[in-house]
Amino acid sequence: AVGCLLAVIVVSGTIALILVAVGVKGVYLPPGTKYGMVFDAGSSHTALYIYQWPADKENGTGIVSQAEACTVQGPGISSYAENPANAGASLRACLDKAMTIIPVEQQRETPTYLGATAGMRLLREQNSTKADLVFAEVSKTIQQYPVDFRGARILTGNEEGSFGWITINYLLETLVKFSFAGKWIRPQSAEVLGALDLGGASTQITFQPSGTIEDNSTKVFFRLYGTNYSIYTHSYLCYGRDQALKMLLAALRKENLTSQQISHPCYPKGYEENVTAAALYDSSCVPAPVAHDPSQILTVRGTGAPADCRSAIQKLFNFTACGANRTCGFNGVYQPLGHGQFFAFSGFYYTFYFLNLTNGQPLSVINATIWGFCTKGWKELQASFPQEESLSRLHNYCPSAFYILTLLHEGYKFDEQMWSNIHFRQQAANTDFGWTLGYVLNLTNMIPAEAPEQVKGQQR
Ligand code: AMP
Repeated sequence: AVGCLLAVIVVSGTIALILVAVGVKGVYLPPGTKYGMVFDAGSSHTALYIYQWPADKENGTGIVSQAEACTVQGPGISSYAENPANAGASLRACLDKAMTIIPVEQQRETPTYLGATAGMRLLREQNSTKADLVFAEVSKTIQQYPVDFRGARILTGNEEGSFGWITINYLLETLVKFSFAGKWIRPQSAEVLGALDLGGASTQITFQPSGTIEDNSTKVFFRLYGTNYSIYTHSYLCYGRDQALKMLLAALRKENLTSQQISHPCYPKGYEENVTAAALYDSSCVPAPVAHDPSQILTVRGTGAPADCRSAIQKLFNFTACGANRTCGFNGVYQPLGHGQFFAFSGFYYTFYFLNLTNGQPLSVINATIWGFCTKGWKELQASFPQEESLSRLHNYCPSAFYILTLLHEGYKFDEQMWSNIHFRQQAANTDFGWTLGYVLNLTNMIPAEAPEQVKGQQR
């Protein structure tokens, strides 16, 4: 007693044929698509992520995917401290784009969040009034759009690490899987994956250790799909790529504070740039020397000396400070013994991708490649990489690569053997790695604490 009704609907010029089954129990319409949006307000830039999922399958895994990632033009919102209205205005182009992607009838029920990370943590530390004004302006702009805006806030470092971990494990389906027998199961073979994130102003390490976690400030607990997870996470403020390279420049200057010249062993020979003292000492990661002149112009000259570069970068870390009877990352921060496979994304990926180092090369090859790259002169480099896109970053790939190598190998203690457990990757299932997906999954209750028992439809 099931009849069928063929409906022809014209949507934006295309004709869609929809088969509506009229059964004894009622009318079943095809499930719609739901959307959610998150602004990732990072220190170097902001991006708007638009996620989508089928409305009838909210509790599965691998169901939410990325519909769009829109890069906001201009710097991160913390750079608008002196001009907060422009922080709001900078978001408009991506919001306008979102309004063309999300159907009009869905927009008002699209949960929309803005999460800020280490750039805003630093600004709040420096001047919390300015940070509040920036939040007021970005919120004002988002509220002018017909979306369900649920607030703008700074994530803690632990949240940033944890949500990145959830994203990876959700996308790679290590938490729960739909079995052939028609049940949601915890994959027996799949161990959960660790997450390594390198932003502009902080870096996060998050994984499930084999033993206990001895420092409660680094411990997060989740119950996901009926399984308990005790996860280690730590965010190192100032150890994101941009702030670390600033700390390096300030340290190199310290060797000769009275000079206007800074010799930089990580920049290629022949490379030269001017920076003002004000720009160098503009964050709390890089304290200004006493009695310094902010308007002073400093000339930075590359010397292309890998051994000196390596040792200057090592000095940014304290590898020895560690309490007795415990294992540490660096700067005395507790870190349990590493365990399992890790995915390294964002800044880790960009630099290693540029250097062709994302194909599982052993540590010795990574080391030799970086060493070789760092001996190239500026003219030679420019000739080998004429593409505009990479030109503005070209001088930074050597220091970034040595920084990453030092952070992973000596900071996080990935030795030669464990190095092969690191996978440099930026995406899975066409969805970017990062904290934003985990954030939206959590805030829209899309990862239930208990496993869904019955499956209502077929898995995609
Ligand atoms: P993000 O993940 O956007 O916070 O960026 C992390 C770090 O990578 C920041 O220091 C950025 O400046 C840097 N970065 C972003 N895009 C690229 C790229 N295409 N190549 C190299 N570095 C990048």
